[in-house]
Amino acid sequence: MKRPFITKAQAEEIIAKYPTPFHIYDEKGIRENARKLYKAFSWNKGYREFFAVKATPNPYILKILKEEGCGVDCSSLTELMLSECCGFSGADIMFSSNVTPEEDMKKAKELGAFINLDDITHIEFLEKLCGLPETLFCRFNPGGHFELETQIMDNPGEAKYGFTRDQLFEGFRILKSKGVKHFGLHAFLASNTVTNGYYPKLARILFELAVELKNETGVDIKYINLSGGVGVTYIPGKPENDIMAIGEGVHKAFDEVLVPAGMGDVAIFTELGRYMLAPYGHLVTKCIHQKHIYKEYIGCDACACNLMRPAMYGSYHHITVLGKEDAPCDHKYDVTGGLCENNDKFAIDRMLPEIDIGDILVIHDTGAHGFAMGYNYNGKLRSAELLLKEDGSVQLIRRAETPSDYFRTFDFTGILDKYIEK
Ligand SMILES: *Cc1c(COP(=O)(O)O)cnc(C)c1O
Repeated sequence: MKRPFITKAQAEEIIAKYPTPFHIYDEKGIRENARKLYKAFSWNKGYREFFAVKATPNPYILKILKEEGCGVDCSSLTELMLSECCGFSGADIMFSSNVTPEEDMKKAKELGAFINLDDITHIEFLEKLCGLPETLFCRFNPGGHFELETQIMDNPGEAKYGFTRDQLFEGFRILKSKGVKHFGLHAFLASNTVTNGYYPKLARILFELAVELKNETGVDIKYINLSGGVGVTYIPGKPENDIMAIGEGVHKAFDEVLVPAGMGDVAIFTELGRYMLAPYGHLVTKCIHQKHIYKEYIGCDACACNLMRPAMYGSYHHITVLGKEDAPCDHKYDVTGGLCENNDKFAIDRMLPEIDIGDILVIHDTGAHGFAMGYNYNGKLRSAELLLKEDGSVQLIRRAETPSDYFRTFDFTGILDKYIEK
């Protein structure tokens, strides 16, 4: 069973002040989960989580994670700027980008971030642009299919990221000859995995590669970055990840591969986004219309601009009708937003309790890649983001966009003065 972290009474009180739709995050859940992650990797002395900023790029969320000991994983100039302003610097920042513009790379170097190169040509690109730092990471792409217990998990051979195996050996040699002293190895081979086997398998691949790289090129590998990809369970009742088992699985591979090779002081890094935030966010929306044609439709004041995953990937997001948590799910609905796009549906043929106009719906697991993937199609405005704090109070951590915000970027001649707040 998935239960919302807010009640109907709480939601009504919040909505009186901040109208729907909005995203709300659960501070207590975020903190407890981060502590559990650190516990799962406490066997590794240098362990650190670098939260993938792209999942939930909000400074208040970043500050909570900072207090829990996390760094940040950035992929763009503005993510770097945001992190800088939240007090992250130097070794708090991992810069894992691809197709990297010059100004982004320069900013990462200026902040002293760990730079994770996506391609062998980026060695020269970085060197010419601003010189090579003492420490560099390279991203590995093994190609082919990534399999776990004979099941294909993902298809790195079709992925645009990373160095091939040969390029990695060559790249490490070049970097060493150019004076780079310390090295990190990174790979992201499957997304949203719900199996305790993903990280351990990935770790073993990277650990074995690290031993070979060290033996063949003589470089000092200090860090292994397992990146993101540990998923969450969106569908109620399905198996869930056990982070303690995942941490232990990586520990076992570490003891079996790195320790015997004299590499027992390698630090493990992670760049989790979804796992850190997804379950601790709700999209809260109201039913504003209903229609009965060939199917039964529930029309919400939120749309795919607030949560793109169902439209883009067909993803399941659980829905709770507040106050009807225990009512029988005996009505079949398509739950839709108002875009002029028929894929703007949060749920299709979903069995739910009978919904009335004015009912408040909680769309679950929207804390990562939810608000962040928002857009302005059909002139829809981005919603507010709220934080349910540990003491039960609610803080506005991003105001809703206004028409004025939307019009501002093309108002050169005053044509929209009527609607732009000065
Ligand atoms: C997206 C991304 C992550 C985070 O992925 P999750 O699936 O949200 O954990 C981490 N690292 C890189 C390089 C990414 O692109």
